[in-house]
Amino acid sequence: MSKLKLQSEQVGEAFAGQFLTDHFGAEIFIGPGIELKLQEISHVIFQDVPDNEYFGATVNVDSEQVFVAINTRQPLRIRYFTVAHEFWHLLGYKEVISEEIDHERAADRFAAAVMMPASLVRLLWGRLKQDFGEEKAIIMIADMAAAPYEAVARRILELKLSKSRRLIAIKEKEWISLRKAHHLANSPLDEPFPIKSFSKYESVIAEAVEKRLLNKAEASGKLAQISPETAIRYQTETNRERTISQEEEEDL
Ligand SMILES: [Zn+2]
Repeated sequence: MSKLKLQSEQVGEAFAGQFLTDHFGAEIFIGPGIELKLQEISHVIFQDVPDNEYFGATVNVDSEQVFVAINTRQPLRIRYFTVAHEFWHLLGYKEVISEEIDHERAADRFAAAVMMPASLVRLLWGRLKQDFGEEKAIIMIADMAAAPYEAVARRILELKLSKSRRLIAIKEKEWISLRKAHHLANSPLDEPFPIKSFSKYESVIAEAVEKRLLNKAEASGKLAQISPETAIRYQTETNRERTISQEEEEDL
């Protein structure tokens, strides 16, 4: 691993410990609690976007208003992990860390460490592995932590609890089939729970346009992914206003 990657991982891990202490008071499996915490401290936009590659994003309207968009089309365990990842951007760690690091990598490591605190995973792993074998132990921890299977497998490796690289090659879908092989019931965490709610975000954008903090073209850009219909409306209005002002110029 390169020095930059290693440093990013270390920084992500360190901030996660602090985050858990500050917001939950202990190193526990917070699971779905991560999303409630996000709603408590920021504006959350729940989207239902039929795109497997889209997970979520943190959007700054201005220096004071930050929104976090979450794609609820993703299975719950992936959605919670995305929320944990977005906390990295939301809390502005980029501004407080002076050294050059890969922030996407740090955010992923942060998410893993927040959802799966090292001390807890270490404590569980030895016994679970002994009693049930590595694959089943990973599935069990994924359920306890409400985390993606792939993220658990990676965590086990990064905490040096196993050397088996085979585990991190197994894809999320294959893990779901492995449940059956291990006689484990289906998990609701493998299902999406689609919700849509972003009126607050739209009204903040509308207010910013009204106060002329944003022009309609900028508003359209900010809404493109979150609310395509409203984005198109702003875009159409921009075009119409442009045409009118051109006509006025021609009249002069
Ligand atoms: Zn990110």
